[in-house]
Amino acid sequence: MNREKPITVAVAGAKGRMGQEVVKMLLQDPSLSFVVAVDSKLHGVDVGEAMDGRTLGVTFVQSVAEAFQKYQPDVLVDFTTPQTVYKHMELALQYKVRPVVGTTGLTPEQLEDLTTRYREAGLGGIIAPNFAIGAILCMKFAAMAAKYMPHVEIIELHHDKKLDAPSGTALKTAELISKARSELKQGHPQEEETIAGARGAEYDGFRIHSVRLPGMVAHQEVLFGATGQTLSIRHDSINRESFMPGVNMAIKAVMNLDTLMYGLENLLD
Ligand code: NAP
Repeated sequence: MNREKPITVAVAGAKGRMGQEVVKMLLQDPSLSFVVAVDSKLHGVDVGEAMDGRTLGVTFVQSVAEAFQKYQPDVLVDFTTPQTVYKHMELALQYKVRPVVGTTGLTPEQLEDLTTRYREAGLGGIIAPNFAIGAILCMKFAAMAAKYMPHVEIIELHHDKKLDAPSGTALKTAELISKARSELKQGHPQEEETIAGARGAEYDGFRIHSVRLPGMVAHQEVLFGATGQTLSIRHDSINRESFMPGVNMAIKAVMNLDTLMYGLENLLD
């Protein structure tokens, strides 16, 4: 779609680690117009002043509903918390604002429910557990490898402020691997954990391990083993800017969608 007017964007979680990167990205793209930010504690404060002291002329409002009522944005970018994102997506549906959601932790039931309701309303949206293009490639390569090397374990590593485990990316990778490989219960049949959790979380016969440490951003390694050989596929986001080309791509793509898309990989050919 060729648009003469910039796409107007609201940001929920704009004061957070990801939200601040989204604001910087929006300000650099003349085809996008950052119109409002949501933060319950900074109501009425200029976003630029809260971030680096530079007046931007865009203020925080108290809630997503207030942002929608006052500014009628085209798109809501949401990087908040697993507890609030579902409500935000319901509001987006009510106000016909297209959501681009990076917040992880929505349950499969919530995802299914939202997918149905967005389809029925003919409203476009994108939920992506990972906006880094390299992470999407890591998932795709892992799914390709799983067809031929079905013995696999996923290790995801994140900073210690992350609320949900395993990561949305690890879950999505596991889902793609599961679709690609033949059914297989891995490990020794009599395997026993002498400390609970030692073998990680089980997903369809294979394991996911979550590491949380300061100094990490977002990392994932998918390990495959076969007779006499191993294969490691690893992706590292070394800073949060790594997610922004994907968020930018999603904001533009969502204007042409009429269903809720899950995963940035659907936008890559
Ligand atoms: P963060 O630094 O804790 O930021 C979350 C922000 O959301 C905070 O500023 C918080 O404000 C705000 N918030 C909470 N509830 C809100 C509400 N109801 N309305 C508006 N704002 C609200 O977290 P982060 O590291 O940026 O991560 C945010 C989410 O993105 C997490 O779910 C994380 O897993 C996910 N993530 C996704 C990707 C991806 O590529 N998809 C990449 C990295 C992270 P207060 O502190 O005032 O509550």
